[in-house]
Amino acid sequence: MNKIRLPASVTVKELAERLGVPGAQVITYLMQNGVMAALNQSVDFDTAALAADNFGFEAESEEAPATEAAAPSAGPALRPRHPLLDLSGEDPAKLVPRPPVVAVLGHVDHGKTSILDRIRTTSVAAGEAGGITQRIGAYQVERQGRLITFIDTPGHEAFSAMRARGADVTDIAILVVAADDGVMPQTEEAIHHIRSAGVPLVVAINKADKDGANPDRVLQQLAERQVVPESYGGEVPMVPTSAVTGQGIEDLLDTILLVSDVVSPPRANPDRLAVGTVIDSELERGRGPVATVLVQNGTLRIGDNVVVGRVYGKIRALTDDAGRRVKEAGPSKPVLISGLTDVATAGEVLQVMETEKAARALAEQRTNEQRAKVAQPVRRITLSDFAAVQGETKTMTLVLKAEANGSLEALRSQITKLEDPNVTIKIVGEGVGAVGEADVNLAAVSGAIVIGFNVHPDDRAKAAAEELGVDIRFYDVVYQVTDDIVKSIRGMYEPSFIEVYQGRAEVRKVFSVDGRPAIAGCQVVDGKITRAATCTVRRDGREVGRGKIDALKRFRDDVREVARGYECGITLDGFADFAEGDVLEAHVTEQQNI
Ligand code: GDP
Repeated sequence: MNKIRLPASVTVKELAERLGVPGAQVITYLMQNGVMAALNQSVDFDTAALAADNFGFEAESEEAPATEAAAPSAGPALRPRHPLLDLSGEDPAKLVPRPPVVAVLGHVDHGKTSILDRIRTTSVAAGEAGGITQRIGAYQVERQGRLITFIDTPGHEAFSAMRARGADVTDIAILVVAADDGVMPQTEEAIHHIRSAGVPLVVAINKADKDGANPDRVLQQLAERQVVPESYGGEVPMVPTSAVTGQGIEDLLDTILLVSDVVSPPRANPDRLAVGTVIDSELERGRGPVATVLVQNGTLRIGDNVVVGRVYGKIRALTDDAGRRVKEAGPSKPVLISGLTDVATAGEVLQVMETEKAARALAEQRTNEQRAKVAQPVRRITLSDFAAVQGETKTMTLVLKAEANGSLEALRSQITKLEDPNVTIKIVGEGVGAVGEADVNLAAVSGAIVIGFNVHPDDRAKAAAEELGVDIRFYDVVYQVTDDIVKSIRGMYEPSFIEVYQGRAEVRKVFSVDGRPAIAGCQVVDGKITRAATCTVRRDGREVGRGKIDALKRFRDDVREVARGYECGITLDGFADFAEGDVLEAHVTEQQNI
């Protein structure tokens, strides 16, 4: 394998250049692994190394000599992590073991909720005679004097929603398969999600108490899907359980601890400002916005100044999973926090800042960036990306949503009939009903396009699609869907483009060249201005000219973009007749979506 040296952080563009592959391929690969990054965004070393490996390179850190002893790993090897959750910068001496965080996945009705409930009620952490009084989205239990943290929202929708935002909270996944029902479609989807997250897996063969239980058949079915049980010489532990009788539940907990110890003991540094992930959030009457946060590194304390995405605040109270007020929460501990200024989004990373001012500034900066991003073309996998290139095979991945079962089936059967030597079509998810956030998240982690048939997206899905760069297409005639797919495969798909507002600059001074106005000395008053933009020049509200940006300068330097509040010099292609007080409105063309 070729070796490549990479820095602690590298932009996707540079990474692609160093690997000698098109940027789009790197973006697609990262997306399939749950990392959303545009060309000019940076990824950390671990993520870059993972991508490098995919393209046939073995990555070495530029920072550390290759011979240096490896620091204790923060989790299963080479898992893409949110940069804030990356422990490679931590002093290895400060890393101490933390409880493993476990998520439960599997087909509907196979007993995920029942198993989580059973674990809760039988193994409540010591000293809680009254039992758990509050559901906060995650809880901890004690086994063999050690703690295990469970995410209390079963299913892969919550799991992929987190990963779609780059948050990887899970150390171990439990796949629940009912012994009387065997491997079902969502079991397969769950396997797909667990694999792409790269987390170790424990299978609970549930409903072992039922008459029709046939655990051997389940083992066989799983082995056929490359989930090979230990009894077949594989590595996946399988535990027969019954959420009804309690059989095997303690075994399951012991197995989790064992896997955690053997595969990669999770670690964290409790002695620093906290970083964690929002598991759940809501607006609670009387208390304002509350959120359940799973602390992943450091210790979260009352009074801490925090930022979560674009929301900030000061921790007013911390409540644990037993409903008790606590003063602090260390690694792997879930706590309900209050004191945020707004409702946070599940899956977002919480970060403690030194001061309130810093927390507010970061939240504001992100709000501004988000505004500007609305205008920035997000890299999407769209129908126009599939023009078949001779000799190269591609996979077009789709998520289908339709208003009724009948039309869903019609759509599926027409799509699966399409054949192309270079493009394989794969349907990773389908369902009846509006396009929801979960569909968008699934599409984001699998690099899929969402096809909505006679349905519309809800607001959260729209926002998520915007944020994650997922392409959603709506149709009401089946043949139009297949037509577009065929056109796309043949490279004949013509996307339509729309103009998207980017920002506004006011002309403060006009500089002349050879006695004629030429350069507009501007201040950006809203959004931002980028080199790629086209500007409309308005005087007293009326359009007086228009042109593509020819040069964008800060002082003497050519720059790619100028943010709100900054001054810059702008020249346009085909228009120079600027006057003081003119407003330059910048637009970019973006492919039509939704
Ligand atoms: P989920 O959709 O995967 O969360 O499944 P649930 O936990 O809601 O369980 C679905 C149904 O199966 C419920 O009626 C449960 O009572 C039942 N169930 C769950 N686990 C077991 C089990 O171990 N044995 C039996 N006999 N029934 C179970």
